[in-house]
Amino acid sequence: MMEAVREQLAQELEQIREAGLYKVERELSSPQSAHVTTQGAEALNFCANNYLGLADHPDVRAAAREALDRWGFGMASVRFICGTQTQHRELERAIADFVGTEDAILFPSCFDANGGIFEVLFGPEDAIVSDELNHASIIDGVRLSKARRFRYRNRDMADLRAQLEDAREGGARRTVIVTDGVFSMDGYYAPLAEICDLADEYGALVMVDDSHATGFVGEHGRGTHEHCGVLDTTAETHNRVDILTGTFGKALGGGSGGYVAARQEVVDLLKQRARPYLFSNAVAPSIVAGSLKALEIARESAEQREALRRNTGLFRDLMAEAGFDLLEGSHAIVPVMFPGEDGARQATQIADAMLEHGVYVIAFSYPVVPRGKARIRVQLSAAHSEEDVRRCVDAFVAGRSAVAG
Ligand SMILES: *Cc1c(COP(=O)(O)O)cnc(C)c1O
Repeated sequence: MMEAVREQLAQELEQIREAGLYKVERELSSPQSAHVTTQGAEALNFCANNYLGLADHPDVRAAAREALDRWGFGMASVRFICGTQTQHRELERAIADFVGTEDAILFPSCFDANGGIFEVLFGPEDAIVSDELNHASIIDGVRLSKARRFRYRNRDMADLRAQLEDAREGGARRTVIVTDGVFSMDGYYAPLAEICDLADEYGALVMVDDSHATGFVGEHGRGTHEHCGVLDTTAETHNRVDILTGTFGKALGGGSGGYVAARQEVVDLLKQRARPYLFSNAVAPSIVAGSLKALEIARESAEQREALRRNTGLFRDLMAEAGFDLLEGSHAIVPVMFPGEDGARQATQIADAMLEHGVYVIAFSYPVVPRGKARIRVQLSAAHSEEDVRRCVDAFVAGRSAVAG
């Protein structure tokens, strides 16, 4: 039997290769950082979600190392049996306080947070109105719920209104608008002020997945809600976003773990019912301690955020000067566009040529992004120096000439 299945799988793999979609993993032989070693050579890394440079920060490493001795290696239990240490609760309270909600619940990952939340909160009598470009984990989570589903065009407020009308006509008990805070392929922010206004008008909840924002977007790094002015940090947790999800696997140390931050009742109910919380192991002690330290650094100092803003601004300016086509914006995700028929090939070849110049970036093309909108997605980090940013731009220029020549 296995022989027949093996043959089928081999064919499927071959189809993936033929379509040019086969992903090969490049192995690093160094820690994750602005400078990495891969295939025996040093490279400047411009494709990690290491926005604040905390993945290899000495204080984060030290906190994790100490936790290994104090708290042990693993939990060998889910949270509700015997997998909750005091520091798990500490991390939940800290992230809730940071993003401006009453409490939070920690999941093994944000994929699990999004996977677990919808079926608990939204049943057949409810409506979920979701941005078409939301993260795969939101799409999967929504599928697991029995709520009616509505999808609106990316950041299109007229279409969101139309979908909310449809949902209202169907007579929903609860309606929720769900969006990524930052869309990862474009670096665009969701227009949360307009979304919150529409939510008020239609009596809907607002849920934001802020994985590409928590820790560095907004004046204090609290996220897209702060950036968009729907979180008033001077008032006692006045937060117009009802539910936030996010990850510790990106800016906040890049270890692992995700969360849902919301009202107490939401968090309490998820602790009773969310399946990835109930049936998956607790986050490891050293990761909890490292994430706590990363959050503390992000909170207490603006240094990393400022470095990130400086690097992003410099990169955008230099690339525009060099005549590259960038998607507009201010986020540390900077898509360098190669439009048209030949764009996918150009982007891939330029990214390959750049690695020869010691700069590691990734090209994305259809079906990850729309046809004709191929790009190299650059992600800046606070850990990059000005020199690093300049070297990246030089590599783009050299890569462009190599491919044109
Ligand atoms: C990365 C990401 C996730 C997944 O986070 P993990 O903690 O790695 O599972 C979920 N949602 C969005 C928008 C993301 O960018």
